[in-house]
Amino acid sequence: MKFYSTNNKALRVSLRDAVLQGLAPDKGLYMPERIPSLPAGFLDAAGERSLQEIAFVVAREFVSGDIDDNTLSSIISHALPFDAPVVSIEDNVYALELFHGPTFAFKDFGARFMAGLLGHFAQQEGREVVILVATSGDTGSAVANGFLRVPGTRVVVLYPRGKVSEIQEKQFTTLGHNITALEVDGTFDDCQRLVKEAFVDPDLTRSLFLTSANSINVARLIPQSFYYIHAYAQLRHLDLPIVFAVPSGNFGNLTAGLLAMKMGLPVAKFVACTNVNDVVPEYLESGMFNPRPSIQTISNAMDVGNPSNFARMLDLYNNDREAMAADLYGCSFTDEETRDAMRDVYARTGYVLDPHGAVGYLGIRSYLCQYGPAAGVFLETAHPGKFRDVVEETLDRSIELPEGLKAFAAGKKQSVPMSAEFADLKEFLLKV
Ligand SMILES: *Cc1c(COP(=O)(O)O)cnc(C)c1O
Repeated sequence: MKFYSTNNKALRVSLRDAVLQGLAPDKGLYMPERIPSLPAGFLDAAGERSLQEIAFVVAREFVSGDIDDNTLSSIISHALPFDAPVVSIEDNVYALELFHGPTFAFKDFGARFMAGLLGHFAQQEGREVVILVATSGDTGSAVANGFLRVPGTRVVVLYPRGKVSEIQEKQFTTLGHNITALEVDGTFDDCQRLVKEAFVDPDLTRSLFLTSANSINVARLIPQSFYYIHAYAQLRHLDLPIVFAVPSGNFGNLTAGLLAMKMGLPVAKFVACTNVNDVVPEYLESGMFNPRPSIQTISNAMDVGNPSNFARMLDLYNNDREAMAADLYGCSFTDEETRDAMRDVYARTGYVLDPHGAVGYLGIRSYLCQYGPAAGVFLETAHPGKFRDVVEETLDRSIELPEGLKAFAAGKKQSVPMSAEFADLKEFLLKV
């Protein structure tokens, strides 16, 4: 399979080049040259298959020819040794829990699968690959932990000072080895811009083998399609239309769902839900795409003012907004609504939502009100313990952290302070 750039369909590269480059040279995002169909009869039997078995069949459609079956199988078993259960919350509402990986957020799926592929290709390079990643919290931890001690790789995490939770910060600043954290005096959008500038800087690209691990890397997109298929397989017996609400920031997770749908997964609708950073719901409504600086919220992993995967969404729909709006229902929610949902669900069911999952929950409720009964699945993208302060304050009770999170909390933070000027980042990188 070859991959093209969203800026130029004639530009086609191998899987290896797409994964190692991250962003295409023309700044487009890589897309598979064709979207494979799920093998015939696959969905009928998928209910008996594990997430890992589904992952193998789906990933193989994209990588066979570049990665042999044994390597793929070992990449999957190493990257995804955890489950993604579907939990019933109330009538017609289910949580797809994506936080059972080592850093307790759904980004473990993309980051660990990508680390497997990239580590495989890096070994063939004979040169250290430097992975730059801008994070609003969860990406940095998932990528840093996914790449920790992977031979031939070095990870540089850029994060906005004071804008990630303490436990998130600990997950990528305490690791050492091949992981370095840069604490940037700016916003997440600044971090993302710095990374983009690094890729087009001739001095840096000449002296370093740079790549990105942001949701722009196609190796992160592919594995995020696995759990939609797995969840569908568990709920199809209900004989209801299946709807997924995806709490979104850069829209990588939602784009992966669209990919699964285009592979043949019968999804009735995706709910594109955001916090007040509502650039995409606004586009679905009005046709105007108006990126702007992000606003800080309690669901901070979704504080994105210029969603990077929007280019892929447009590409999947050939820039046809009406076609996109037929598959997507957009909605956005304030922090107050999010907190009310967390309190309400906890009071009625005992289920503890994290602020991101709560936005997804609100999206499903809104869909059910608007369109009637469905098997409504919202993606619970992080463990509530990752956002402990907000959750405890909102629910007015303390919550128990899982052991894995406690271990991170006990580590010692080590980070390098950095301004939001590209010149400073460049100087730093030329010295690593
Ligand atoms: C990254 C993240 C999101 C947003 O995912 P996108 O793919 O960027 O849309 C939502 N929730 C959590 C917890 C996240 O870490």
